[in-house]
Amino acid sequence: MNTRRDFLQKISMGLGAAALSPLMSQASFFSANKIPGRKLNVALMGLGGYAGIVARAMKQCQMATLTGIVTGTPSKIDKWKKDYNIADKNIYNYDNLQNIAKNPDIDVVYITTPNSLHQKHVLQVAATGKHVICEKPLADTAQQAREMIAACKKAGVKFYVGYRLHFQPHTREIIRMRQAGEFGKIMHVNNYMGFRIGDPTQWRLKKALAGGGAMMDVGVYALNGARYATGEEPIWVTAQEAKTDPVKFAEVDETVTFQLGFPGGAIAECGTTYNFNNFERLYMIGEKGFAELSPAFGYGPIKGRTHLGELQIQDVTHQAAQMDGLADCILNGKPDPNMTGEEGLKDMIVIDAVYESIRKNGQKILINQ
Ligand code: NAD
Repeated sequence: MNTRRDFLQKISMGLGAAALSPLMSQASFFSANKIPGRKLNVALMGLGGYAGIVARAMKQCQMATLTGIVTGTPSKIDKWKKDYNIADKNIYNYDNLQNIAKNPDIDVVYITTPNSLHQKHVLQVAATGKHVICEKPLADTAQQAREMIAACKKAGVKFYVGYRLHFQPHTREIIRMRQAGEFGKIMHVNNYMGFRIGDPTQWRLKKALAGGGAMMDVGVYALNGARYATGEEPIWVTAQEAKTDPVKFAEVDETVTFQLGFPGGAIAECGTTYNFNNFERLYMIGEKGFAELSPAFGYGPIKGRTHLGELQIQDVTHQAAQMDGLADCILNGKPDPNMTGEEGLKDMIVIDAVYESIRKNGQKILINQ
């Protein structure tokens, strides 16, 4: 019989002592003490809100370091130089970024520009021969994502999507438990992610820069979560949109509910919104047990419980864990996590189907991955 002590022991075996020790850094948690001879040199492209979060988090990294920037706004340069000790020769703009090809101080470019620029920017970076990390959603459409993957393959560079949760300890633990059969056959999933968006003039509400609305931006967390909760790829999708503010959400989706059918028979009931708060949860239930993460998808601290009790796991700074984890893959040849370009494409295929179902008044869309 499983006892709570067994459970805690399993967690500490599965995740390492760092999971339970607030004193141990998250870098050693993922690198398993394999500190390489040198760090992964990273350039950030598109110095907005999220780039700032990644840059601050990277100050905690042991295996990755911020060495360069790409920006179209010269007035940002001084502050970034000062805050992150960036050398002049590692500062680029959108017109000269092809010169990164010759720069040995940059191994990877991390793209944090608005969604609809991701494809163009990934193609440009891949052509420099540098590895690419691109923020979510990977692209506007699955077809764009396929072209991005092909370009990176042709250039011989690694290509990742910024799915930081794949290095997040609670998320990793529920995936481990599911893979170990601790929940039994997965019967149902119920995921939500959304928030009330502010400024009505921002790019996230413009189709030409955002590609879509809540579904693209944060619905992708509920969707990706349904894929890691089941370990399967959806075979059909139905979806509906509720628009309570047709003026603010004239160009993009506001609130979307969507259902995903999986080969094992489970259905994931998911939702996303740009128009209300307190909408964030992952819930998965199997024949033998369940897991609930709430909050599940934001920057944390993530919290959760299973049929065995509360998950006694220390959260980490997600972006630092992600960058140390990816450095370990690139520099030490560790197996790639579920955040490759192909993983991003799998979600784009479903997002395409969600929008198609909405356009067709909720019609069931079959998916051939
Ligand atoms: P933001 O508006 O704060 O930053 C976007 C940056 O892109 C700005 O510096 C802007 O100047 C630059 N940019 C370059 N070309 C531009 C153009 N033509 N139009 C507008 N801006 C242009 O946005 P953000 O919140 O940092 O989001 C950027 C990306 O990061 C998005 O794809 C978003 O989905 C993603 N993101 C991911 C997470 C996560 O947790 N993984 C969190 C937030 C944002």
